[in-house]
Amino acid sequence: MAIARPVRALGLAAILMWFFFIYQIFHSSSRKTYGDLPPHERDPNIDPTGEPEGLLVRTSDAYAPNAQKSARINATLLALVRNEDLKTMVESMIDLERTWNHKFNYPWTFFNEVPFTEEFKRRTSAATNAECRYELIPAEHWDVPEWIDMNLYKESAQILKDQEVKYAGMLSYNKMCRWNSGLFYKHPAMKDMQYYWRVEPEVHFFCDVDYDVFRYMQDNNKTYGFTINLYDSPQSIPSLWPETLKFLADHPDYEHANNAKAWLTDNLRRPDHNKKAKGYSTCHFWSNFEIADLSFWRSKTYEDYFNHLDRSGGFFYERWGDAPVHSVALGLFEDVSRIHWFRDIGYQHIPFFNCPNSPKCKGCVTGRLTDGEPFLYKEDCRPNWFKYVGMG
Ligand code: GDP
Ligand code: MN
Repeated sequence: MAIARPVRALGLAAILMWFFFIYQIFHSSSRKTYGDLPPHERDPNIDPTGEPEGLLVRTSDAYAPNAQKSARINATLLALVRNEDLKTMVESMIDLERTWNHKFNYPWTFFNEVPFTEEFKRRTSAATNAECRYELIPAEHWDVPEWIDMNLYKESAQILKDQEVKYAGMLSYNKMCRWNSGLFYKHPAMKDMQYYWRVEPEVHFFCDVDYDVFRYMQDNNKTYGFTINLYDSPQSIPSLWPETLKFLADHPDYEHANNAKAWLTDNLRRPDHNKKAKGYSTCHFWSNFEIADLSFWRSKTYEDYFNHLDRSGGFFYERWGDAPVHSVALGLFEDVSRIHWFRDIGYQHIPFFNCPNSPKCKGCVTGRLTDGEPFLYKEDCRPNWFKYVGMG
């Protein structure tokens, strides 16, 4: 049966429109939305990722939990956690044990400001073959310091709440950020430790890591390792940078010659953030993941800096996170070549991911920064880190 030409033309048009429609769907879903920001040039997570360069130490019998002559160096997996977070803490442990620690058996150290329950101890130690330590935080490390005026705290908390600062007025959150900024490494249980890997409840690890990451840090002269690099809420840290500048004025010699100040002070990518944070881009290493050398925090430089910040009251009158505090210190006082992007460690803390392109990874979407709302893409500060510092 012959089909009239106009009908044929219409049919063809319909087919073409169908292909166009399909193309649009796939094209737009593969395109990242950055709000008012340009997409960064190229997400390195899309590129095939292998292990880092340098000397890598593999597992061996010397990494067995009770090895007579252990190959482990002085390092620990470290978790500040509440008894109530037992279930999600075990989830994090299962992932990290599966992808890495069952090969190396580094000890876990759990910290809490109240004693851990027997159930917490039983179920966490059942999730690993490695040693588990359960440590109580001394009151003098957790309590609000005596120079903080609680009336002023309440007033300030209200201002922060009005500005919709997350966790504003939640005193335990302020204490947690202060402890993670400048106190965790002063606990007697950390005395002999040189490196730690911070692990939170409800995080996920996706990629097999087949080398001793602590030895990697030591053998390659690294101070700090991160996976995710983000912008912060400027309303939570209005006086962090001004206080930092005051500190620098008193200690100009503390700045490292090869520092990452350009990353800290960038005002091109999100000028509004820089303005509200009074000169600080708000870019920071997302510290719920960090692998670091404790010598940096124990240095006189960092001790002086932390004490200066602590005395200024910003951990309570504002809502300074340990992430911007650690990051500003690293960005000013450390050699950038000693800061390492662990691009090969697949990681998620809601709502962000580090998901490399590697056959060693399962369970995350390569290159996807977030599974949350599209506006979250603009929180990505990795492009600035790559721009000013490189891959590290
Ligand atoms: P977020 O990641 O900034 O949303 O904050 P979290 O609620 O995950 O807290 C950060 C870390 O501190 C996690 O390891 C929590 O388990 C821990 N944490 C937070 N508040 C407390 C607290 O009051 N007591 C204890 N023991 N741990 C806490
Ligand atoms: Mn968290």
